[in-house]
Formats: sequence, structure tokens, C-alpha cells
Amino acid sequence: MEFELSKDHLNWIDEVRSFLKDNFGAQAQAQALEAGREWNDKPAVREFRSALARKGWLGLTLPRAYGGMERSTFDQFLLMDEFAYWGAPSIDLSSSAVAPTILRHGNPEQHKKWLPPIIEGKVEFAIGYSEPDAGTDLASLRTRAERRGKQWVINGEKIWNTGAEYCTHEWLACRTDLQAPKHRGISVFIVALNEPGISIEPLWTWGGLRTNKVRFQDVCIGEENLVGEVNEGWRYVSTALDFERVTVGLTGAVRRLKDELVAYINSEKGAHTVQERPELRHTIGQLVVDTEVARLLNYRAAWMVDAGTVPYAEASMTKVYTTELNARAADIAMQVLGPLGRMDPTDPGVPLSGFAQSLYRAAPYLRFGGGNNEIQRDIIAQRGFALPR
Ligand SMILES: Cc1cc2nc3c(=O)[nH]c(=O)nc-3n(C[C@H](O)[C@H](O)[C@H](O)COP(=O)(O)OP(=O)(O)OC[C@H]3O[C@@H](n4cnc5c(N)ncnc54)[C@H](O)[C@@H]3O)c2cc1C
Repeated sequence: MEFELSKDHLNWIDEVRSFLKDNFGAQAQAQALEAGREWNDKPAVREFRSALARKGWLGLTLPRAYGGMERSTFDQFLLMDEFAYWGAPSIDLSSSAVAPTILRHGNPEQHKKWLPPIIEGKVEFAIGYSEPDAGTDLASLRTRAERRGKQWVINGEKIWNTGAEYCTHEWLACRTDLQAPKHRGISVFIVALNEPGISIEPLWTWGGLRTNKVRFQDVCIGEENLVGEVNEGWRYVSTALDFERVTVGLTGAVRRLKDELVAYINSEKGAHTVQERPELRHTIGQLVVDTEVARLLNYRAAWMVDAGTVPYAEASMTKVYTTELNARAADIAMQVLGPLGRMDPTDPGVPLSGFAQSLYRAAPYLRFGGGNNEIQRDIIAQRGFALPR
């Protein structure tokens, strides 16, 4: 079996690196680190997103008919992983999860209306699934959408809606049938975030990332904003989450931390750590092994999408393995660095380019994104190996 990347893949990685060199300079890197590395609205980071749109990379896997590039999911994975390695903000879920779901489940008018502006970077989605009493058990969501004539009227509250403060639209899951079994009475709507009746309140995470509580009070939208069919939303949410999970288990940050750690230990500054604590050699050796395993798990999930299979269990495997590896790697960095590991990522002279503390603080919430890891383990057991529910 050939595990090496092809020449085309290596050329693609070179192209991505050269884009980063030109568009992700010192100022953008500092702002990205300061803002918690992802989904942030700092000016230099927003400019980086515009550069991505100009390059056409917000439509990497989407059809040419709408302005996309029709490249493979594997190429998208390689790009995102490289971005993560350099601490650049990822291609957001508008392109990687919402757009392919609209393509699969939306009607032709919705394809024409939403795909071009997503690819041009003019429309950006916050994801409105979770509620204060509906997280893991998402099908219990209560935000209500009621049909009144040719409109839908929305009332309710969402939580953890990351990016809502700067996104243009919300990809919103609502209850549209109170009598139906809970998975069957859900619909998905596209709602402009500047509609009257929407209020957004910040929630700050320990990792420095801002997320939000979003309230909807008698928000009126047209019937064309209903995605696909009424009461079919659970399928659409599941599709979007499947697309999201393939992108959650990136190994870039952990590969970078591993490379930074090895370079630090081999430097004059860090040489004493292994002399004083030789067992660290084993720890780093194991980290190298684990990082390689994570990379291969990721490759497999992305390759399966391109081969036309839905990687239910495989995407969950990479998500569990890589997100937990992030936490282990950050922990190892703290052991190696001692008090230096606690330096703020933006402090001058911070070791490991600031990756130790930022990953240490981000790792806990990576376990939640796209569904928490306990549920991913259920998915692996049930969907992958037919274990009873
Ligand atoms: C930083 C951050 C950003 C987020 N961004 C978004 C976003 O943009 N849009 C959005 O809609 N949501 C977002 N989320 C929400 C995320 O998807 C939820 O946090 C997640 O689904 C878990 O839901 P919960 O927080 O309500 O926890 P709960 O469901 O209350 O779970 C709490 C704990 O119980 C455990 N647990 C629950 N049920 C089970 C079970 N059946 N078996 C075993 N263990 C279980 C969980 O593992 C967890 O540790 C974000 C969350 C965070 C932290």
C-alpha cells in the first residue's frame, strides 16, 4: 500500500504554502493567535479571508457552475491542515459544510441564490443548532418557526453560535411541528442576522474564542428561506455535521507543536530538559507516532468522501483521536516548558511560537465541536460495528 502523497498533492501543498507566505504575514499571525486562532473578526484576519475568496478557495470543492473549483475533499483537507500548521484561520463552515448541504438538499433556486455569494465570501454563516437545553440531545431543540401566510415567524434562543457577531446569515434549525416525533418536526432556515428581532450577546471561552447567545423574537422571514422541505431538517443537519466532522480532526496544530517541541529540545535553550528528564525522549517519541496515526486517519476519512462513501465511523474516529491528541500534546508541551509554557501566545519571546498555551486552552472545546467525543464513540460503535443502541 502506498502511503506517500502524490506529486500533484505535494505541488498543491507548495501552492498553499506560497499563498500563506504572501497573505498570512506577521500582523495576521499575531491577530489570529490573540483571537484564539479560529473564527475571529480581527481586521488582518478578515483581509486574509477576502484573499481566500479572491483566490477562489472558498469554493474549492464546489461546482464550477457556481464559481467553484471542483477540487477534491482530500485537497481541501490538505489545505486546511496546512493552514492549521501555520496558525491561519480555517476555511469556515459556510464553504465546507453549509454550501455542500445546500447543494445536496436545497432546490435549484437556492443553489443559484446562495452558492455564488458563499464562494465570493459575501455571505458567511453562523451555525444555529445548540440551545441552552439542547446540545448533545440536539433533536430536543425548541426554537420555534411558525408559518403565517407566506412568512415564517421565529421565536427562541440559540447558544454557542460562533461567529454570529460578524457573519451575515444564520443556518438555523427550528421546530416546525410540535406533534411529530422530535427528529421529524425540525426544519432548517437561512436567516439574515440583521433582521429585526435578533439580538446577539457574547460568550467568551477560556481559550479566548468568542461565541454567542442569539435570541429571536418574532423574526419574520420569507418562505424561500426554508431550506429544502419542511420537517426534513434533521437530515440536513446530519448531512452538514458529517461534512463538518471531516474537517474537525485536523492534525496541523499538533504537527506544528510536535515540530516546535523537537526543535526546542534540540536547541541550546531546551537541551537541558532531556538531560534532566530522559523519559521525555519516550514521551516525544510517542507523540511522533500518535501524530502520524492521526494524519493517516484523516487522510482516510477525506479520501472516503472523494470515493463517494460517507465516512460515518471514520470521520468520528479521526475527530476523537485528533482532538484528544491535541490535549495530550499541549500537556506534554507544558511538561517540557514548565512555567515558560504559561506565557501568553502574544508575549515577545514566547517559546514554541505561542502554540503551547494556545493549544492547551483550545483543546478542551475541540472535544465538543461537531458533537462531543462521547457521542462520537457511540457512532463508531453503532454505525461502524453495528453494536446495539
Ligand atoms: C467553543 C464552542 C463553540 C461552539 N460553536 C457552536 C456553533 O457555532 N453552533 C452550534 O450550534 N453549537 C456550537 N457549539 C455547541 C456544541 O456543539 C455543544 O457544546 C455540544 O454539542 C455539547 O452540548 P452541550 O454543551 O449542551 O453539552 P451537554 O449535551 O449538556 O453535555 C454535557 C456533558 O455530558 C456528556 N454527555 C451528554 N450526553 C451524553 C451521552 N448520551 N453519553 C455520554 N456522555 C454524554 C457530554 O460529553 C458532555 O461532557 C459550540 C460549543 C463550544 C464549546
